Order: sequence, then C-alpha cells, then structure tokens
Amino acid sequence: MKKIKLKNKEEIEVGKIVCVGRNYADHAKEMGNEVPDEFPIIFMKPASTIIYSGDKVEHPDYSNNLQHEVELVLLITETIKNGSEKEAEDAIGGYAVGLDMTLRDLQFQYKDKGEPWTLAKVFDGCAVLSDFVSKEDYKLKENENIYLDVNGERKQTSSLNNMIFDIRKIVSYISKKMTLEKGDLIFTGTPAGVSRVVKGDKIKGGIQNVAEVETEII
Ligand code: MG
Repeated sequence: MKKIKLKNKEEIEVGKIVCVGRNYADHAKEMGNEVPDEFPIIFMKPASTIIYSGDKVEHPDYSNNLQHEVELVLLITETIKNGSEKEAEDAIGGYAVGLDMTLRDLQFQYKDKGEPWTLAKVFDGCAVLSDFVSKEDYKLKENENIYLDVNGERKQTSSLNNMIFDIRKIVSYISKKMTLEKGDLIFTGTPAGVSRVVKGDKIKGGIQNVAEVETEII
C-alpha cells in the first residue's frame, strides 16, 4: 500500500486519488475544450500508481506523447459525505504538489471514440507526489504561485487563484458523489503550458510555500 508523509507528522496510507480536469480556463482552451462552469470534470487514478519526488517516471512504450501537468494536491484527513463547503474546508488536512502525468495521444484517441480515457491517465508512476504540509503548519492562501520547469525551462506558471472551482467547491462536490475518507487525495487540475516530455527530461514543479516535486523520464 502507498503512504504519504505529512511533514512533522504521521505517515498516512493513501486511499483513492480523485482528479479534477479543466480547472484552469487557459488550460481548457489550450486543449480545445469548453471551460466547465457548473461542475468540475472528475476522473480517478489508483493509489498504486503513486511515486514520490526523486523517483523516475518510466515512459510507457505504447505512447508517443507523455505530458506533464503540475497540480495542487489535497489530503483528506476526515471522512466527508454530502459535505458543505465549510465541512469540506475542515476535511482538508494538508497540501502537496503533484504531477498528473498524462498520455495525451491516447487521451485524444479515446475522446474521439467517445471511450473512457482511463488508460491515458493511469499507468505506474503517473502520480508523482511531493511531501505533504499539514494545514496546521501552513494555511494555504490560495493565491500561491504554481510552476513547472522542464530541463530548467519554465513551461507552466500560474496562481492558485486562477482555479475555476476552489478547493472547498471541489471537495464538497466530490463528497456528494462518493464518500471521501482519511488518506484520500485530490488532484485539483493544471494550468496552461502542458508539454511533451521524452526520456532523459528532468522535471521540477512547485507551489510557493508548499513544496517542490522532481522527477526524470526514463
Ligand atoms: Mg490533470
């Protein structure tokens, strides 16, 4: 079972990983998608796909377009079902920065055929995580910078206040569809600037005052 380390606190076993798609308008547009206005787009990754900062991403041989997506990741530390935004706030216990690694060619193929794009988002190493910071140690202001460099070149940069659905709306919404439990993680979507990476590329992403995450494609 995969665990995450909460800085200065305990290790927590990871339950499920719920991800939000198209949560920054500029990224939705660069993908040629409509900007969602009513509800976030939700998909999932199994916890077994997690790797940690410093580990390497093995490029799947059945894709020619592996892309990076840097995202704020929320840690759920209290059970929440049908929760209000206030209850959602209380259920969020920590934050990290993560990489939602995506097989973009497969995602477009599946979308074109109207099939689920699960396998474009799920492969070993597709969820790269930094350490987590507990909200007692750092309370997110939600205007922190989020950024990602490939081989030292800046590719993604934005502010968390550009998210279409804020963290309370996301957690409240998901909790109305499925119970969230301690150890569940939420990937909250990526800003514009996603790009293809190949073997040998080194990626570093971060969120101001939260953490950095590094990996290499092999
Ligand atoms: Mg994503």
